[in-house]
Amino acid sequence: MPELPEVETMRRGIAALSGARIVEARFPAGACRALAITPRPDRLASLLRGVRLGVVERHGKRVAIGIESTADAGPTWLVIEPRMTGLLLVADPPTGKHLRMELLLEPPAPHPVLRFWDQRGLGTIRLLDAAGFERACGPRALGPDGLTVTAEALAGRLGGSRRAVKVALLDQRVVAGIGNIYAAEILHRAGIDPRRECRRLGDDDLERIAAATRRVLARAVELEGSSIGDELYRTADNRKGRFQKLHRVYGREGEACRGCGGPIERIVQAQRSTFFCATCQPHRPGRRLVRRRRTA
Ligand SMILES: [Zn+2]
Repeated sequence: MPELPEVETMRRGIAALSGARIVEARFPAGACRALAITPRPDRLASLLRGVRLGVVERHGKRVAIGIESTADAGPTWLVIEPRMTGLLLVADPPTGKHLRMELLLEPPAPHPVLRFWDQRGLGTIRLLDAAGFERACGPRALGPDGLTVTAEALAGRLGGSRRAVKVALLDQRVVAGIGNIYAAEILHRAGIDPRRECRRLGDDDLERIAAATRRVLARAVELEGSSIGDELYRTADNRKGRFQKLHRVYGREGEACRGCGGPIERIVQAQRSTFFCATCQPHRPGRRLVRRRRTA
């Protein structure tokens, strides 16, 4: 499912369309599950016709495209959330029947069409005014971005919580952009047991989690995200991501840990699979500190 690195890759893949004028907006009604589109598709199509695409931003796991309208209605944003299987594409879509949106762009745009494709249909497309944008993407909805999060920001948001740290990292108000894949990868690199209660994390632990978050997500953006097995994630021009080759724990139950050679285990937390190494991510706090001191 697209997390920060995948959505950031989509954003970069369509950023060159900024400035292009929409000739026509289409929201094909296929035979599959209808997408959540606000306002309803015929109204949205008429609102988008003739306007220019503005800046292309990412907020957590959402892409927000500024809409430069000539109408005196204040700034508006087209906010697209891929959720499980959504893709923003300038290339041809994998299937025709799961195509959800086509924005036909006036030449000489770098690409003739911007598409949103979503097999499972759990994604959303919303045209939001300034207040709606603030509610969807403002600081009350989303915590600090995963690419820049600090230990201090984590401390303020995780503080005395009894939640398991892995579950807390999935909360977009704690840190924006992390999902199930990267939460596991971050905690393995930080050497933290995913079951640790947040209130039991020391400053040193938070420092390692914040640093691992920034490092893992930045590297995954460089490698254009993770395309796993037969899952559908692709870049905007239809290439697979490459970070899956660097996964240390996610989806590797029973395989050898790349840190210590021990077996990767799988447990379930909040109805989601968690992958980890019990040796590299010890339940006893302190062990890793000893190892760090030795190598210092
Ligand atoms: Zn290990």
